[in-house]
Amino acid sequence: KEKITFSLNELIDEVLIFLYPSILDGKVKILQDMNEDIYLNGYADEIRQVFINIIFNAIDVLTQYRSDPVIHIKSKWTPEGHIKLDIANNGPRIPEHLVSSIFEPFVTTKTLGTGLGLFVCREIIEKHQGTLTCDTESDWTVFSITLPTEKQTI
Ligand code: ADP
Ligand code: MG
Repeated sequence: KEKITFSLNELIDEVLIFLYPSILDGKVKILQDMNEDIYLNGYADEIRQVFINIIFNAIDVLTQYRSDPVIHIKSKWTPEGHIKLDIANNGPRIPEHLVSSIFEPFVTTKTLGTGLGLFVCREIIEKHQGTLTCDTESDWTVFSITLPTEKQTI
């Protein structure tokens, strides 16, 4: 397996198309505020898995609890020149004690959950020299991924 340079925007679009049936069935609205032309270097299939896990967790909670479900995906530059991707959903607040343990393996609140999703997501992001964190801001649950970027090579 080789590291490649790939477009972040294209990867996110791919994931949204892949998750489209679940998004439509739950009538989840997707908002995107992305910088153009962001390129990452690494294992695209693994980073894709991270987005699928986080967005699917959001869909999961939204279709259960919200009548006006929204997922907001936005990116911005950090002062260090890395890209910060926020994946926010307007679901119920994650209880304080849970926020500190959701990245540990086998922590799940779902009957059929594995509790491995976020654990694996963080392993993948850290392997790419990035960080993955979770915050709750009033009505929003926000998963933030920070990653170094790559200049586009043709
Ligand atoms: P699983 O999806 O199998 O439960 P994860 O590691 O993906 O495992 O998630 C662990 C737990 O974190 C979930 O069971 C859920 O309680 C919580 N969680 C993850 N994402 C969200 C979210 N967007 N909103 C609320 N809770 C969440
Ligand atoms: Mg999960």
